[in-house]
Amino acid sequence: MVEISRRGLMFVLSSPSGAGKTTLSRMLLETDPGVIMSVSATTRRPRPGEQEGKDYYFVSTEDFGLMVNRGELLEHAKVFGNYYGTPKAPVEQALQVGQDVLFDIDWQGTQQLEENARADLVRVFILPPSTMELERRLRARAQDSDDVVASRMAKASEEMSHWAEYDYVIVNNDIDSSFAKLQAILTAERCKRERQTGLSDFAKQLREGL
Ligand code: 5GP
Repeated sequence: MVEISRRGLMFVLSSPSGAGKTTLSRMLLETDPGVIMSVSATTRRPRPGEQEGKDYYFVSTEDFGLMVNRGELLEHAKVFGNYYGTPKAPVEQALQVGQDVLFDIDWQGTQQLEENARADLVRVFILPPSTMELERRLRARAQDSDDVVASRMAKASEEMSHWAEYDYVIVNNDIDSSFAKLQAILTAERCKRERQTGLSDFAKQLREGL
C-alpha cells in the first residue's frame, strides 16, 4: 500500500459538559491509532480517578502563569474559575509526523487556535439532544457537587451559543451514530489535498510512470 505523507490535523471537540464529548473522545482514541489526545494543563483540582499526565497536568496557579509567560501554551482560558491551557510542544511534534491531535477545549481556546493555527484546525461542536437530557447526564455523572452541576447548567447555554463558530455540529442523540459522524468528518478532513504533503511527489511519479 502506498503511504502518502500527511501533516496531522488539530481536531477540536467542544460542547457543554455532559453532551457526550468525553465518551466520543474516548471512542475515537480507542479505535484510531492515528489520533492522540492533547493533555491540557489546569489549575483545577483532580477529580477522583483522574490521573496526572493522562487526564490533565495539574499545576499551581503560579506554575500556570509561568507556562503562559514562557510562551509554552498554544492557547489558554479561564473556565469555571480555573485556568486551562494546551501545551504547545507535543502538538507541534505530533503534527509534523502526521499524527492527528484531539483537543477537548472550550470555545475560548478554539478561537485562539483559529487565530494561531487555522490551516491545521478542524472544529466540531457537540450539542445535547435537549436541556433535560443534559441535566440528567450531568447528574448521572455525580462527580460534582449540586452547586457545581447548577453552575455548569447555567454556563451550558452560554457555551452552546458558540456553536456557529465551528466547522461541524453533531447533535448527540445516539452515541454510536454520533461517533460514526465524527469518524466520517475525520476521514474526509484527512483527505484534504493541502494536508497530503506528499501528494505532488506521488502524482509526479505516477505521471512519469514510475
Ligand atoms: P473539566 O474541568 O470538566 O475537565 O473541563 C471544563 C472545561 O474546560 C471543558 O469545557 C473543557 O473543554 C475545557 N478545557 C479543558 N482543557 C482545556 C484547555 O486546555 N483549554 C481550554 N480553552 N479549555 C479547556
